[in-house]
Amino acid sequence: MIKVGVNGYGTIGRRVADAVRLQKDMELVGVTKTKPDYRSRLAVGKGIPLYAVDMKSMEGFKAAGYAVKGTVNDLLQRVDVVVDAAPDDIGAENKKLYSQAGVKAIFQGGEEHEVAGISFCAQCNFEKAVGKQFVRVVSCNTTGLCRTLHAIDEGVGIAKARAVLARRAADPDEVGKGPIDAVVLDPTTLPSHHGPDVQTVLEGMNVVTMAFKVPTTHMHLHSLLLTLKKPATKEQVVQSLEKAPRIQLVDGKSGFKSTAQVIDLAREMGRPRGDTYEATVWRDSVTVLDGEAYMFLGVHQEAIVVPEDIDAIRALYGGYSREQSMMLTDESLGIVHR
Ligand code: NAD
Repeated sequence: MIKVGVNGYGTIGRRVADAVRLQKDMELVGVTKTKPDYRSRLAVGKGIPLYAVDMKSMEGFKAAGYAVKGTVNDLLQRVDVVVDAAPDDIGAENKKLYSQAGVKAIFQGGEEHEVAGISFCAQCNFEKAVGKQFVRVVSCNTTGLCRTLHAIDEGVGIAKARAVLARRAADPDEVGKGPIDAVVLDPTTLPSHHGPDVQTVLEGMNVVTMAFKVPTTHMHLHSLLLTLKKPATKEQVVQSLEKAPRIQLVDGKSGFKSTAQVIDLAREMGRPRGDTYEATVWRDSVTVLDGEAYMFLGVHQEAIVVPEDIDAIRALYGGYSREQSMMLTDESLGIVHR
């Protein structure tokens, strides 16, 4: 059993913790929390051992009547791998703790590539992380782009990729974030950070991205414009997407007119929290014109990196092939392999 801890129990941490609990070869040793709120109560209710992020937060838990098992330093003594799911840039600070404890650690996409030196997307570069101490799972948008570009590059070859990202403004519980009534250029200059981030995984991919934020909380939507290396048909592009894992194809004529129906599908399938782990490509948007392929790609920001974190745990621990790990992860999460 791989002993796993999760440091940071927010949007990503809670999902990764639940996914770890579904793995037959992993034990969730505990999660850290900063304060005793309803999420702490729910974690305890699930039987998840709670740890405080530091001594000060431990006092808060004790005062609220929680029996915490210790601080993050105690958790680190008991695990093989820790998944850092703390807010952006806090992971880089936490790295000192992991180095001191000699524990393997996974960082999230809110950290710089340099925090680990390896950026990870399982189906693209699992092998690079095998046996290493640190790895960074790339952000939600970068994961969606990496899966899709990798699949089409393997299938028909990409000479140049361009992507325009309409980004969700905030996660559903982030009440303090906006915009409420604007489209925000994110940033006003090009490229957005996503293109260079894709290149930390798909080295050599010629990709330029631009992004803006829209007032929605569920899912990002990318418009992809790809110059192909050689002539290909729409069917060949679709086939390369169908062959790749963790990409689902949906159609407008089946009722998928927006991101809302993608989330609705996940809810109706009984996915926890309505999570869509797959990159979602609209099959009927795939169009090839004059050597260029076009398509829409949806990314459920809260969920898409969850299977990647689980595979990253196995990669760091060692002893698994990419195929073995992805199959175990996907079976446990209900991700269908065609
Ligand atoms: P979040 O704010 O929802 O959760 C972070 C949690 O960490 C909170 O519960 C916070 O209280 C806790 N925390 C604060 N300080 C801490 C510390 N010192 N040590 C441990 N925990 C601490 O954030 P999130 O959205 O889950 O993002 C976590 C990481 O995942 C970021 O790097 C982010 O960029 C990345 N990510 C987020 C999304 C997304 O859409 N939310 C998608 C992909 C990747």
